[in-house]
Amino acid sequence: MIRSSVWRFSQKASSAAASAATGASAKGAQRKRAAVLITAAAVGAGSVFALTRRPNDWDEYALPHDVSPQQFWSPPTRSQMIEALKQSSSRILRADGSLEQAKSLLMPSHEAVGHSPIPEVEHAYADVPEHDDDGFDLLIVGGGATGAGVVLDAATRGLKVALVERDDYGAGTSSKSTKLVHGGVRYLEKAVKQLDFEQYKMVKEALNERRNFLHIAPYLCSSLPILIPAYSWWLIPYYYAGTFLYDLIAGSQNMGRSYMVGRNKALEAFPMLRAHNLAGGVVYFDGQQDDTRMNIALVLTAIQHGAVAANHTEVVALNKTPAGGDDKPGRIIGARLRDMLTGEEFDVKAKGVVNATGPFCDALRKMDDPTSADIVSPSSGVHVTFPGYFSPRGMGLLDPATSDGRVIFFLPWQGATIAGTTDVAAKVEPHPLPGEKEIDWILDEVRNYLNADVSVKRTDVLSAWSGLRPLVKDPAARDTQSLVRNHMINVSKSGLLTISGGKWTTYREMAEQTVDKAIEAFDLKPLHNCLTKQVRLIGSHSWSRTMYVRLLQEFGLDTDVALHLSNSYGDRAWSVCSVAKPTGDRYPLHGIRLDPQLPYIEAEVRYATRAEFAVKVADFIARRSRMAFLNTEATIEALPRIVDIMGEELDWSETRKQTEFREGILFLASMGLDLLRVNDLANVSLIEARRWKDTSSPRQLSPALSASPMQSAA
Ligand SMILES: Cc1cc2nc3c(=O)[nH]c(=O)nc-3n(C[C@H](O)[C@H](O)[C@H](O)COP(=O)(O)OP(=O)(O)OC[C@H]3O[C@@H](n4cnc5c(N)ncnc54)[C@H](O)[C@@H]3O)c2cc1C
Repeated sequence: MIRSSVWRFSQKASSAAASAATGASAKGAQRKRAAVLITAAAVGAGSVFALTRRPNDWDEYALPHDVSPQQFWSPPTRSQMIEALKQSSSRILRADGSLEQAKSLLMPSHEAVGHSPIPEVEHAYADVPEHDDDGFDLLIVGGGATGAGVVLDAATRGLKVALVERDDYGAGTSSKSTKLVHGGVRYLEKAVKQLDFEQYKMVKEALNERRNFLHIAPYLCSSLPILIPAYSWWLIPYYYAGTFLYDLIAGSQNMGRSYMVGRNKALEAFPMLRAHNLAGGVVYFDGQQDDTRMNIALVLTAIQHGAVAANHTEVVALNKTPAGGDDKPGRIIGARLRDMLTGEEFDVKAKGVVNATGPFCDALRKMDDPTSADIVSPSSGVHVTFPGYFSPRGMGLLDPATSDGRVIFFLPWQGATIAGTTDVAAKVEPHPLPGEKEIDWILDEVRNYLNADVSVKRTDVLSAWSGLRPLVKDPAARDTQSLVRNHMINVSKSGLLTISGGKWTTYREMAEQTVDKAIEAFDLKPLHNCLTKQVRLIGSHSWSRTMYVRLLQEFGLDTDVALHLSNSYGDRAWSVCSVAKPTGDRYPLHGIRLDPQLPYIEAEVRYATRAEFAVKVADFIARRSRMAFLNTEATIEALPRIVDIMGEELDWSETRKQTEFREGILFLASMGLDLLRVNDLANVSLIEARRWKDTSSPRQLSPALSASPMQSAA
């Protein structure tokens, strides 16, 4: 069958090229036609760009609302947040079923600045009338990229806003992305080939947002060159025409100009590449981020601007006014929340409720209207983590033509290499497991373009994860079958505002449009227009690329630890170090590691519980740190110590510590840990696990644990 995509090539590309050269192959002719079309489009777009070019938005502003937090600012505690939520309503249903009158509490205000990340945090509170009948302006449900973006946008416009997340911030799809901040060269190819203006708009919008991303959180994002290898000479100008067009569309927001490389330069840039038949390639630039650190930075910045936010707090029902006649549904005036840590339920009042639950949005839509049709068409994307030596440190690779027509990224990330992704129809579940078939498919594809020195085995997989794409149909569209290209905003008859779809890269623009819509739908009175292009995220204000050197000198840290802290916490790395205990060694003076090979230190666990709302072990291993994404085996070994530190900070009993340890192990099943091994480890007591450090490895505990992490699944 002739594959429609000319952008793609595979192992068979060289033979296809040979037949194209003879002029006999229809495929070759079609590819060349497309190459001419793309090149012409690149020139055309260049002209359009020249006419529509506009300056960077942030260059024009003096950042009047970019509030820099006091040094060592830390947010109110989670319990204070829960109390603030209850304050909006007078009814609290306790876990035992009794009803209680809510106490009068004060809401955290814009002046809510503390002085220390350590327990005795001081906060200023604004007076709120005891019976504030309106409650919040907005209640945002879902604390992934979308919800976190919306709460920041609303808070910085001066709206009274609350965010609730039933698991942890970023626990859904937002922690499981490819970590790219990108317009998507693949979508651009589709836009040109299918002359699809909507696709083009999506790429342009994402490219604009890509630069905003880097501006507001420079310590969390960086630019990454990505090589597209070409195994036929004529593919080089073809790919280049595509990336040139990509650069043109990005215009003044571009991150670096793409360029062509010959065979030798391609191998110099990416020495692990299969050299046989390699003609050269094209290098283009995109952004790369740490998705969950970005997620928590958005939430913390919103809190700094006055938002109330609580993780592990689920919306279990929507509260409405009584329904009117003529099938008029009641209007949503808030929600019933459940504190997942205590089981307590209470009501929260809000003028508007925003459903930002991504792939889970149908459940909330059904709470609103049980007859509403499903709009999510879930598909899962699996990634795997390989050791860092699989790729050069500063260069990614894009395979534009895998065996089933998808693209695969192969990227250096946090000292490791991540590869993905797949695209398989899936069911919606909170912790989807990465399928063995999908992992094998990635391994096969990766083998195709690496040279013989880099053998790719199942045991090289250090971690694997599956994320659900929130692909949606627009319930208001005539053609309700087709998926929306970008994101979709819909307000139901009773006033549930659903925002779904889109990408991490476009979270800011999605949030702006959502809050605009909410202001209109719920008649809100904001103090400002949207400010999120100017408001830099917490940690950005006094961060610099070389800040890690000062940090290292001040605290006597290892270089990789200082770099990691600087690039994960920005200027808040000083706060992290301020709670670091001395190592007792000649060097490093501070920074007791959780694992000898990873740069994570014990002080991060303390900081995460004190200043970043980590209340479960998985919050730390997967989202405040990225240990579970980088190496499940190292995470298992560090788990007893992490549990003990969190236990100290959060005053856990020994039973609670054992539960957290077990839940931590079970969570690792969703990070690719073999299920047999998970079962074995889940039966190990924490007391036994604490002895791992003396026996040097958990594998020595029992013969059942002697297989290497993924072996039994291979
Ligand atoms: C494999 C894959 C790779 C991707 N790679 C990229 C990439 O490289 N770059 C990019 O820009 N985009 C990428 N994306 C897209 C991006 O990750 C998503 O668009 C984005 O993360 C979606 O965020 P969200 O907040 O809408 O959903 P989610 O992150 O899933 O958040 C929804 C949240 O709602 C919570 N929730 C659900 N029900 C309730 C309730 N009743 N009460 C309270 N909370 C509730 C859930 O716990 C969840 O945390 C990728 C997506 C996938 C699947």
